[in-house]
Amino acid sequence: MIRNFVIISHIDHGKSTLADRFLELTGTVSSNDMRPQYLDMMDLEREKGITIKMQPVRMEYILNGRKYFLNLIDTPGHVDFSYEVSRSLAAVEGAILLVDASKGIQAQTIGNLELARKQNLVIIPVINKIDLPYARIAQTEKEISDLLHINSSEILKISAKENTNIEKLLEAVIEKVPPPLVDEKEFQALIFDSKYDQYKGVTTFVRIFGGKVKQGDKIYLINGKIEGEVREVGIFVPKMVSVEILNPGEIGYLSTGIKEPGKVIVGDTIGSPGSGKSLKGYQKPKPMIFLSVYPENCNDLELLKTALEKLNLNDAALTFKPEMKEGLGRGFQCGFLGLLHAEIIVERLKREFGLDLILSTPSVVYKIIRSNGKEDFVYTCADWPKDQTEIKEMLEQWIKLQILTPMNYLGKVLELLETIDAKPVKTSYFGVDKSELVYETPLREIVSKNFYDKLKSVSQGFASIDYELLEWRPADLVKMDVLILGRKEDSLSRIIPKKEAVKEGRKIVQKLKEVLPKQLFAVPLQAAVESKIIARETMRANKKDVIAPLYGGDYSRKRKLLEKQKKGKKELKEKGRIKIPPHSYLEILGG
Ligand code: GDP
Ligand code: MG
Repeated sequence: MIRNFVIISHIDHGKSTLADRFLELTGTVSSNDMRPQYLDMMDLEREKGITIKMQPVRMEYILNGRKYFLNLIDTPGHVDFSYEVSRSLAAVEGAILLVDASKGIQAQTIGNLELARKQNLVIIPVINKIDLPYARIAQTEKEISDLLHINSSEILKISAKENTNIEKLLEAVIEKVPPPLVDEKEFQALIFDSKYDQYKGVTTFVRIFGGKVKQGDKIYLINGKIEGEVREVGIFVPKMVSVEILNPGEIGYLSTGIKEPGKVIVGDTIGSPGSGKSLKGYQKPKPMIFLSVYPENCNDLELLKTALEKLNLNDAALTFKPEMKEGLGRGFQCGFLGLLHAEIIVERLKREFGLDLILSTPSVVYKIIRSNGKEDFVYTCADWPKDQTEIKEMLEQWIKLQILTPMNYLGKVLELLETIDAKPVKTSYFGVDKSELVYETPLREIVSKNFYDKLKSVSQGFASIDYELLEWRPADLVKMDVLILGRKEDSLSRIIPKKEAVKEGRKIVQKLKEVLPKQLFAVPLQAAVESKIIARETMRANKKDVIAPLYGGDYSRKRKLLEKQKKGKKELKEKGRIKIPPHSYLEILGG
């Protein structure tokens, strides 16, 4: 008897801790080996206390004399990883919806619930952390019953920390989650994650929907259009342990023998050669946020490349391509699902590979339609047409932003929303004292104005956020160039909304004036849009007194030095180039 399920919640509501209790209760991990958040394997996850990659686990439990195999997939709760959540949801039949009693329903509780409903999962609502002295159990019950249209008596109340009602919950999973529907004949498996191994090739984490699979079987990836031969199949306990056969309805791993990780994409279906149709729900992860990453030491370029390649093997959502900027040298333009995803990858590059990095401010991708009708994505300024009249239409990605805030922070949150370009769609009240605000806004606004951090700070961490992608909509953008000593610095060019050009132009020349090292001559700093100057500053000369050390006479010596200084200045000026020290880039680009 099999039950496949996930735990979904807003971040920090206790998924990993609850998974720990299940592992103990079922004896999957002995209490001697137990450490908190057992399924969060990566160091960084443990340190940040968040789940980045899910780690599936199979448990055994006996109820009323019958043995059940329970496959649990722990899911990441952060908005950036909603694609990972949706993959795991497609592999199961039920979901525990976990809500922290001290916080109540949060934005991503609703976001994840919507994803689960799309997969027709059975939802088991649970309130966690009832041990907390400031738990608001009655209010949270009201919120959940409003959201799910159910009676509050149907909601289980637990403490994952204190081990309260964990057994009841596991039994509810067995009773309420239906066993997997299986088709015995045709082999079909959904890839919900993958991992690269030098020797075994790509190992996929799969849910078997139909048929059986064992070592030696020939397989075919329906969307990747590549054949392979099964090297090994196995299950997660939670260590990977090989088994002879994976049966319909089971969750396990399958080593494909395929050595090209780029061909094995999560969400794809594995079938048998010559047969097989794709399971639905296949979607390539799409990077939304871009960041230029440069090694501080140019000798580290190869190391950076290797590091990105390695991370990419287990993270299909990360993209990168080589890029070159004057003053910075060579680096990579990297694409991420969102800001947290970017932060985690950068952190891993620094920590696991010992790299010192220079990063640009995050940006988003734009789309242009040229006068000849051709559509192009604009990732960096280099993709922007030289002649702006070539652009017939500019487009940018809009999102539906959903914010949940306690009523007493509503004023502050609304004030913050005034500072971004956002259109209100809906305001509603929720449970006892919560307000839900739905806005539409360009993704750019959220990324460039650091909206997440600001929201957390105005609401003291009580407001939460979720978003979903809408369509591409018309935008009014320009490319702003920066000139130092009359010379364009390509690395400082940026694409920004036209109406913010003057303000942004002033900001950047001001910043340059502060951070650039003084020269022996005055240096004009300008910002320009389509060769029209929109802001300027002058960095005054640093008059170095070359003759001061020569007190006393020696006129000819003095004159010689002054001449030399004059010549030096002239040469410098003619070369027309001021080297921007890498650290100044950090300050300028760091915004
Ligand atoms: P996740 O992000 O949903 O996986 O949440 P975690 O399991 O990592 O838990 C987040 C924090 O809440 C951790 O500090 C846990 O120790 C704590 N926590 C989890 N469950 C409980 C509970 O039942 N009671 C209390 N007091 N704290 C809990
Ligand atoms: Mg977790």
